[in-house]
Amino acid sequence: MGTPNAPFITIAALSAVLNVLLGIYAGMKKADFSGIKYYVWITIASAVYVLGYSFELASGSLREIKFWIGVEYVGMPFIPPLCLILSCHYIGLGKLFNRRTVSLLLMIPALTLLAVSTNDFHHLFYRSVFLRAGTPSPMVDLQLGDWYIVHGVYTVACLLGSVFLLGRHWKKTKKTYRKQLLALIFSVLLPVLAAFLYLVGATPNGMDPVPPLTCLTSLAMAWSIFRNDMLTVVPVARDTIFDSMRDGVMVLDSADRLIDYNQAAAAILPSLALSSIGQSIDRIWKKEQGGDFPLPRDADGNERDERQIDWADANGRSHYSLRSSPVVRGKRRESARIIVMLNMTEQKRLQDRLQQLAYYDDLTRIYNRGHFIRLGKQLLERMRDAGIPISLVLFDIDHFKRINDTYGHETGDEALRHVVSSCRDKLGADDLFARYGGEEFVVCLPGASIGKAAATAERLRLAIAERPLESAHGPIAITASFGVAEASRVEDSLKQLLREADEALYSSKRDGRNRVSLPLTSAEQPSR
Ligand code: GH3
Ligand code: MG
Ligand code: MG
Repeated sequence: MGTPNAPFITIAALSAVLNVLLGIYAGMKKADFSGIKYYVWITIASAVYVLGYSFELASGSLREIKFWIGVEYVGMPFIPPLCLILSCHYIGLGKLFNRRTVSLLLMIPALTLLAVSTNDFHHLFYRSVFLRAGTPSPMVDLQLGDWYIVHGVYTVACLLGSVFLLGRHWKKTKKTYRKQLLALIFSVLLPVLAAFLYLVGATPNGMDPVPPLTCLTSLAMAWSIFRNDMLTVVPVARDTIFDSMRDGVMVLDSADRLIDYNQAAAAILPSLALSSIGQSIDRIWKKEQGGDFPLPRDADGNERDERQIDWADANGRSHYSLRSSPVVRGKRRESARIIVMLNMTEQKRLQDRLQQLAYYDDLTRIYNRGHFIRLGKQLLERMRDAGIPISLVLFDIDHFKRINDTYGHETGDEALRHVVSSCRDKLGADDLFARYGGEEFVVCLPGASIGKAAATAERLRLAIAERPLESAHGPIAITASFGVAEASRVEDSLKQLLREADEALYSSKRDGRNRVSLPLTSAEQPSR
């Protein structure tokens, strides 16, 4: 290599080797950094680029030079978008990239490669390529074509875009990690500066200094990636935690536009996609749930903290608790906020079930005795304070044991449910209806004097007696005996009222069943 280009060729060849070595090292090292494969691709692309360049410098003819320029473009145009992807991974935006977005970014470089390799047919990339006059070794001068402009703009845009994103991350980066960030910025910016010097003709012999410099840039990148693996672990660990959370999380900016979300959020709101980023949460919510976002900010920018919501999804009805909390950086409260969506469906189901068990009778689904007593006491007190009458109706199915004995326990159960359903629609919404014991029921009638209560009891008696149970064994006639009592004295307690009603019920049984009785002290007459 006796040409004056010899030092350049040597540096370029060394640079190619170093790139290959760095690529192998990065590929073999178990790095936690999510963008590591893009780094490996950068070193491969750089090695191809520099190798092509070395051979270009060593070429003896225009044909050879053109061939090796073609080889350079197998690597070079891909480096800037790969740098952009790597930078995004570095600052924790790695999940923006999937097969589709990466292919999209590499589309222009692929077209550039196509344009270069077929340039002789269309001259879109180089209008002309000719040997430079008066140089000791063959060198070419190039007249740039239209596609070269596209390629140039895209290259600079990707590199400056990377610098911009990395620079924006400066403040967010802890001091100990800033050196690495600076090295990465340097590695992206260096080729841009070198290319600028080359374009203004400030490089020796008019040489392109970018290819040999790739060894420096690859080295700086490797240093920032591997120097402190903790740095790369932090965003990755954070991403992993963020995405493996069971709770849905969305981050909204000051104008309530979506900035980020995790996989759980996407599972809850299936329409969430990368394209939703930047959209207002109201719009996303409307598309998903058909209504306004339930945690809006008020006029002062303060947000509601928490809201329980129900909605229908693929699993049927789901219950979510939505919480909003401000993003706090140090002591400063940012205007962005985090929305956490907790799936409370199972808790709600358990809670409902517990409530059901605590308040309701399992067989007939009306109040149980305990809950009746609690509610009855409150009702009695309220009515007494308001000076409104209140009465009780207690009833017991007649000869129920016979039903069990004749048709079996299951038919007995059916009879109990049947009696409840016969009575339910004869009662008002404010009346308390409960299963008081085995086949004994109680109704508390707020606003009813003893006369009205007796009339209600009579309606219930008829409803039961006139509607036999249609069982598998044929129709079974059912009757019940009733006792009625009114809280007429101030000192009457629920307990006392129940005792009076029970006594009246006992009279009904004694007098032949299937009848309504009032306490003996009452002015009203028993009915039948
Ligand atoms: P009376 O007319 O005097 O009230 O006679 P009775 O047979 O209805 O009265 P008794 O109190 O002797 O019998 C009540 C029966 O109700 C006894 C019990 O086995 C039955 N029983 C209680 N709870 C249930 C239940 O949940 N399901 C069924 N099938 N039977 C029940
Ligand atoms: Mg009975
Ligand atoms: Mg009984």
